[in-house]
Amino acid sequence: SKVQSIDDLLGGGFETQALVEVYGEFGSGKTQIGHQLAVNCTLPEEEGGLDGDVFYIDTEDTFRPERISQMARGHGLEPDYVLSRIHVARAYNSAHQMLLVDEIKRMSKNIDVKLVIVDSLTSHFRAEYVGRGMLVDRQQKLNKHLKELKQLSDVNNALVLVTNQVHARPDAMWGDPTKPIGGHIVGHASTFRLYLRKSKGGRRIARLIDSPNLPEGEAVFSVTAEGIRE
Ligand code: ATP
Ligand code: MG
Repeated sequence: SKVQSIDDLLGGGFETQALVEVYGEFGSGKTQIGHQLAVNCTLPEEEGGLDGDVFYIDTEDTFRPERISQMARGHGLEPDYVLSRIHVARAYNSAHQMLLVDEIKRMSKNIDVKLVIVDSLTSHFRAEYVGRGMLVDRQQKLNKHLKELKQLSDVNNALVLVTNQVHARPDAMWGDPTKPIGGHIVGHASTFRLYLRKSKGGRRIARLIDSPNLPEGEAVFSVTAEGIRE
């Protein structure tokens, strides 16, 4: 991939059979990273790709085929070819979002799926399960959803990438006053977590959190017309 520093952060690139959570505030680059990884996944292995197909569950209507085309051209790839390997479904609510995972499970018998993206993992759950009384239900459903995603990743030797927004912690006195939606349930289910934040001059910082076997570290990147670049 063109983002060597992020590859380094993850010990030589995103590995398959893993669940990666990318979290950060609005505009921090979660959806852009999703688009870039979708393009990279279709690259041949000798060019750092997985030579596989992508399923993209879009919950916020932010998937943009034109952006995929732009990034494909940035790699010298034929946009129509890349788009033909990215299967996008809009999830209309959390139940539909969970059904789509079953659908992918079925379709992956005939399609070589190497990457599954859920952008965003939590937006529907957050909107539908409102208030303290709903918290247990929400976490149970999220937990089930994550288990099914992890299973999908294991069975297909595929990478699953989920995005997650952060919310403010009014109780935080020290350190970063935000935390990811879903809290520790999402954290425990993921193999890696990448925390994105905006920095000076339009740059962005990705920080590796809670990795079982890699040191914590940070990488700086920019979102350019051609895609994610160092
Ligand atoms: P949200 O939580 O709202 O979903 P996000 O973390 O998904 O936010 P992105 O949509 O990935 O954020 O990032 C949007 C930012 O990416 C824009 O503000 C812009 O800076 C940058 N960006 C998007 N498209 C382009 C492009 N074609 N060229 C350059 N920068 C772009
Ligand atoms: Mg987004």
